[in-house]
Amino acid sequence: MTVTPRLLIVGPQGSGKGTQGARIAETFEIPAVSTGDVFRANIAEGTELGRQVQAVIEAGNLVSDELTSAVVRDRLAQPDAAAGFLLDGYPRNLAQVADLDAFLDARGENLAGVIELSVPREESIARLSLRAREQGRTDDTEEVIAHRLSIYERETAPILGVYGERGLVDSIDGVGTLDEITERILTALIARGLNPVS
Ligand code: ADP
Repeated sequence: MTVTPRLLIVGPQGSGKGTQGARIAETFEIPAVSTGDVFRANIAEGTELGRQVQAVIEAGNLVSDELTSAVVRDRLAQPDAAAGFLLDGYPRNLAQVADLDAFLDARGENLAGVIELSVPREESIARLSLRAREQGRTDDTEEVIAHRLSIYERETAPILGVYGERGLVDSIDGVGTLDEITERILTALIARGLNPVS
């Protein structure tokens, strides 16, 4: 039996989930969908969506569930997501978990696994200040980073309890080389019956 790779990657800011998510998606030949990247691309292009979310993102707050879930539903309904997908940065709270459940249930689909990338708080703060210097993201100031981390702990971390009860979570140590961490994730996904393409 083949398991369709419908995957989530969850972790605090600076955990490396964007990088690892892209690698895992490539290995399974599925699209990596990062809600943060979609929003940033829309801001850069000056679209209506970009204008709606810019101030919220710069303040480090969450975009509304309605808007975010609509963006994700549109993306997952595209043909290239039929054979699987990896979501990075969504769901980010319990309401979004319910939205994703409803979307997948209606399609008769389910998640194959949830990768939790864990890193100590000091490590993620150190990585984020490096990224702030390298990439100049407007939401990477010290104050906004602290705010985003506290939202993560309060609103996002609880989703791992829900998925944990469903037996879907693999908790992966996010400290190590990029290759080591990718290997840990792949080992966990293979144990769930998933088959890497490359
Ligand atoms: P990080 O994990 O470092 O916060 P992301 O790229 O995942 O970076 O997200 C950047 C910003 O985009 C978030 O702070 C938030 O404002 C918005 N965002 C991304 N995903 C979601 C989501 N699922 N729900 C609400 N807002 C989101």
